[in-house]
Amino acid sequence: QDKRESLFVLSQWASKLFKENLWETELGQSIGLSYFKERGYREDIIKKFELGYSPDQWTALVDEAKRAGFQSEYLKEIGLAIERDDHSLYDRFRGRVIFPIHNLTGRVIGFGGRTLKTDKSVPKYVNSPESEIYHKSDVLYGIYFAKKAIMDADLCYLVEGYADVIAMHQAGVENVVASSGTSLTTGQIRLISRFTKNVVILYDGDEAGIKASLRGTDMLLEEGLNVKVLLFPDGNDPDSYVKQVGSAAFKEYIEQHQEDFIFYKTHILLKDAHDDPIKRAEVIREVVQSIALIPDEIKVSLFIRQCSTLLDIEERVLLSELNKMRISKA
Ligand code: ATP
Ligand code: MN
Ligand code: MN
Ligand code: MN
Repeated sequence: QDKRESLFVLSQWASKLFKENLWETELGQSIGLSYFKERGYREDIIKKFELGYSPDQWTALVDEAKRAGFQSEYLKEIGLAIERDDHSLYDRFRGRVIFPIHNLTGRVIGFGGRTLKTDKSVPKYVNSPESEIYHKSDVLYGIYFAKKAIMDADLCYLVEGYADVIAMHQAGVENVVASSGTSLTTGQIRLISRFTKNVVILYDGDEAGIKASLRGTDMLLEEGLNVKVLLFPDGNDPDSYVKQVGSAAFKEYIEQHQEDFIFYKTHILLKDAHDDPIKRAEVIREVVQSIALIPDEIKVSLFIRQCSTLLDIEERVLLSELNKMRISKA
């Protein structure tokens, strides 16, 4: 427990250092702060999310941490420092803007760092590793800032990235969290379901986003949540779309275009099926497969009815397919 507390203290300290780098150093202002401003982020939002900056140096944080008396062991454990073969330490986050990750109570437990380079010489994002205080599969980016709004709206928007959460807050939509690139986990879903049973997936409108949205839908259904999905046009993500159309049009768009999972999945899959009956049959099976995951029998029967209308196929046939799937799963 002592160690956990020390890791929390170290994280908090690092977060403060990254913030000071951003606001109070020349490099931070000219590189980091201007990056955020170019992305259109307001100062109040940059402060609220405690965004920061790490200079492009090998040991900026490690040196400061030693001066402040922090142990190397903890620096490594929490992943702020990486150890070389000769046991010397260097900074994990170099030349990046920093997104601190907060737990439910608002304590900093890890960081995401975005490169400022436009080429592909380094990964776009670097993230803190798992540690005793950062269990990635139980954390959602933004949950601390979103939880009240999620309860008030009885609805949670789920996005892919840090930037999406921030852009939506700025647009006035605060009931939003990000799975941060990793595929959604049961732990993350249970975290959401403490606050609401209603989720709208707003993943990126690209191939990866579509795949992740279908997988995420099934996992959410399995945990008993109600799922709607929306894809942004032309490969946009929430952040780029807000920027493109503005806050008011963005809000209108997400309210009008969210579809119940069953319509969403059917539309996505039918696009490639055309009038090919074999492919249509496959679509029907896929949709029934998702319905079969829902634990609530009443909902199952309502969705089967909807599916019957939507795909123009008798309920009886769908039910028998559903039962076959359940038997083969049991
Ligand atoms: P930006 O708008 O800053 O380019 P994004 O959030 O749109 O970023 P995506 O490529 O859509 O970036 O990825 C979504 C999320 O996945 C990111 O916010 C980040 O959490 C995670 N991610 C992306 N690339 C990487 C990477 N190379 N390593 C680790 N995590 C990553
Ligand atoms: Mn993406
Ligand atoms: Mn994205
Ligand atoms: Mn983006």
